[in-house]
Amino acid sequence: MSADAAGPEPVTVERERAVVAAVPTGLLLDGRWRDASGGARIPVEDPATGEVLTDVADATAEDARSALEAAVAAQEGWAGTAPRERGELLRRAFELTVERGEDLALLMTLEMGKPLAESRAEVTYGAEFLRWFSEEAVRAYGRWSTAPNGASRLLTMKQPVGPCYAITPWNFPLAMATRKIGPALAAGCTMVLKPAAQTPLTALAFAQVLLDAGLPDGVVQVLPTSDAGALTAPLLGDPRLRKVTFTGSTPVGRRLVAQAAENLQRVSMELGGNAPFLVFADADLEAAVDGAVLAKMRNIGEACTSANRFLVHADVAEEFSARLAERLGAMPVGRGTDPASKVGPLITREARQGVHALVGEAVSAGARVLTGGEPVAGPGAFYPPTVLTDVPHDARLRREEIFGPVAPVSTFTDDDEAVRSANDTEYGLVAYLFTRDVSRAVRVSERLQFGMVGLNQGVVSNPAAPFGGVKASGFGREGGAEGIEEYLDTKYVGLAV
Ligand code: NAP
Repeated sequence: MSADAAGPEPVTVERERAVVAAVPTGLLLDGRWRDASGGARIPVEDPATGEVLTDVADATAEDARSALEAAVAAQEGWAGTAPRERGELLRRAFELTVERGEDLALLMTLEMGKPLAESRAEVTYGAEFLRWFSEEAVRAYGRWSTAPNGASRLLTMKQPVGPCYAITPWNFPLAMATRKIGPALAAGCTMVLKPAAQTPLTALAFAQVLLDAGLPDGVVQVLPTSDAGALTAPLLGDPRLRKVTFTGSTPVGRRLVAQAAENLQRVSMELGGNAPFLVFADADLEAAVDGAVLAKMRNIGEACTSANRFLVHADVAEEFSARLAERLGAMPVGRGTDPASKVGPLITREARQGVHALVGEAVSAGARVLTGGEPVAGPGAFYPPTVLTDVPHDARLRREEIFGPVAPVSTFTDDDEAVRSANDTEYGLVAYLFTRDVSRAVRVSERLQFGMVGLNQGVVSNPAAPFGGVKASGFGREGGAEGIEEYLDTKYVGLAV
């Protein structure tokens, strides 16, 4: 169901049920929906109410082996299709995703919790990867050159890596899938996708989009499972699988890299973050607060790009903190289907406990609470937007990903201290920086050990840009001209002349 000129339909219980009931809940395997080999099912819960929405097939190791067989069987044919044909499939998938955007957004809100407006934004963002890679499919260029001694010609070509395995997290159930499937299909690779157990519905609804767009059998399989390790072992244990692409936590990423070493499969790792948000004394403070609200509150703070440490020049820290607390404290907390809600529930009650423990430790060590700081009573895993100041430098919430709506503010007094403090983390995904001084912006950006920098802006995600990290945030890039390279190998042919 799509939005018309009168605006999106109001969300009634009947509409929620109808949208959930329309999702295929089997495994997509070799172009068909099937039950899991063991017949088991996984319940899918609404984190705002704790109620079970539905259940989906629970894939086993045997299903993983069947899925790889299908991907391997389809690989040569798919790699041999015309790039334009692959691009047009992705273009149709883009159009269908936009057309079904209201349903996909509601599904995401129901299974993951984020407010509907944010789910709609994710549909736009996720669909854009399909459009971008539909355009990139015809641009996998090679090279022709003359060997330095003139005796031969060097023909360099790009070829698909081969069957790939993609693992995605629960926090962006659509976009994390499309930014892997888009470039893989554009490059001519087949894929097995394992969505997060908590949010399989969006991935399954998107699989139906791909089928309706004309996906040939075996090109993409989708396998939700309650046992990620058991599903993964036979895939990475098979040398016919040529790549694993993962978005998720750093500990799981480390394990996957070790597993992939056995068969030397290529790896792309989009892992955790610990983003610093730097505000210099010369910053436009209003713009910095706007940016901070976005960088902290997008996805309820459950994003790898979420600002995790606010580092503010001592001269403006008090004013910045007060303005941020005012803005965050005014954000309504509620179920994501409520149009007034700006802050949905966290993914589980355990996740909320973890966030609250980080806050409690910081407060015991001397941090001051400007707003929030106590879990919201009632069903669901709600936690209010929270601003803390005077946060000690060794507080655990400055070292670990908070993954919740908590903004800890600390101060610095000069650029060297700001950069040192920002880089003082094992992670290196994204840093944000607010200043009106262009040369400071360039100098500091160059010294920040992060894969991405948001300069006077609180969001960096863009399908046309290379998204990715350094250090413990992983390697590989998704989006931009770099995104398709992750799915291409380089071959060179030497021609004697
Ligand atoms: P997670 O526990 O690492 O889970 C991510 C995915 O890995 C899920 O599909 C999960 O399956 C699967 N998984 C877990 N253990 C596995 C194993 N032994 N073998 C194979 N797969 C396994 O991470 P999360 O807590 O759900 O997600 C949040 C993390 O993702 C954060 O650290 C965040 O920063 C990161 N993230 C990074 C980016 C980025 O682009 N850098 C973007 C978004 C999120 P189950 O669902 O069955 O556990």
